[in-house]
Amino acid sequence: MRFLSADWIYPLHVSPIKDGVLQVSDKGEIINLFESRSEVLFDKLEIFEGLLCPGFVNAHCHLELSHLLGKAEKGKGFLDFVTAIQERNKFNEEVIQNAIIKAEAQMIKNGIVAVGDICNTTDTLLQKQKGNLQYYNFFETFQINEKKIKETLTSAKIIRDKFRNSGMKSTIVPHSPYSVPPKLMEEISNSFDNEDELLTIHMQEISDENQLFENNKGDFYNWLNKINASSEIWGKRNYSTDVLKELGRKKIILVHNTFSRKEDMSDNYYCTCPKANLYIERSLPDYSIFNPEKLCVGTDSLASNNSLSILEEILIVQKNSDFNLNTLLKIACKNGAEALGFENLGTFDKGKTPGVNLIPDFNKTKTIKII
Ligand SMILES: [Zn+2]
Repeated sequence: MRFLSADWIYPLHVSPIKDGVLQVSDKGEIINLFESRSEVLFDKLEIFEGLLCPGFVNAHCHLELSHLLGKAEKGKGFLDFVTAIQERNKFNEEVIQNAIIKAEAQMIKNGIVAVGDICNTTDTLLQKQKGNLQYYNFFETFQINEKKIKETLTSAKIIRDKFRNSGMKSTIVPHSPYSVPPKLMEEISNSFDNEDELLTIHMQEISDENQLFENNKGDFYNWLNKINASSEIWGKRNYSTDVLKELGRKKIILVHNTFSRKEDMSDNYYCTCPKANLYIERSLPDYSIFNPEKLCVGTDSLASNNSLSILEEILIVQKNSDFNLNTLLKIACKNGAEALGFENLGTFDKGKTPGVNLIPDFNKTKTIKII
């Protein structure tokens, strides 16, 4: 049994506690939370400088792209980034696997305990089976050719089932509104077995996306035409409402929202990946439009980030929003755990096993994983 104390404890299900004490079992279960150090025998206390918070939840990552670290040039825009991603298969299996192992180790070191991870392949299966972190696996589909919708879905199901057979949460999801026609959106929605399953989709990540859907023009529109994308994709769709209707699902995490406006907001979970947004589009979302109780944070992949650190991400959110420290930590821990359905994580509620992070100085990007 350990009795952990620090200048501040941020339990996240209740208000922060100054000089509080967190009682944690040897298995990492939260046993009790004391308002004062005087409630515990002094020689049992482990006292730290800084703040204690639950383990971080990385709500959006692409672990299988870790070998693309540094391959895309910064700030060149999305179309340039796509070209870099298309090189993903030009690496041998060992390079891909080693990058996955290293990236997961980095997340653990940075205090991350669970990940919402986008997959297009089974590359991460072996590492995830080791159970070092908890994963919600999203099998991403895209298909700009209407005739190939059935085969796209069939191959996604084969990959999904391999992860499901290993006992991991796994669902098929659409990549984005611009890469998935309405018919495939509906098929994805039909591929769900129950209402608890979760969808995620990249949304309004690119500056030209709104132009594509609202005015049928712009560089992005020209590019989709050039690669013979089905015009059903932009056709008569209202971006933010029709796409969500096609999916017909209750629980969705909308990722990026860099170019979303107040009127685009709905009652869903949102995930921001600020460092990736700066890397690709040199832009950030307007954080005032989000409901902070429904906002999560992700690192995106090492193809568009130089690190996998939730603390680094929320420091950027802090600089560009009015959120206070407690809200920022909810975004980093509680909201992502709720969105991904990891009920044991996210807060210091009794009975949970959320992990414990020490942040010695919030304005520096250092996290120390205590449990
Ligand atoms: Zn992504």
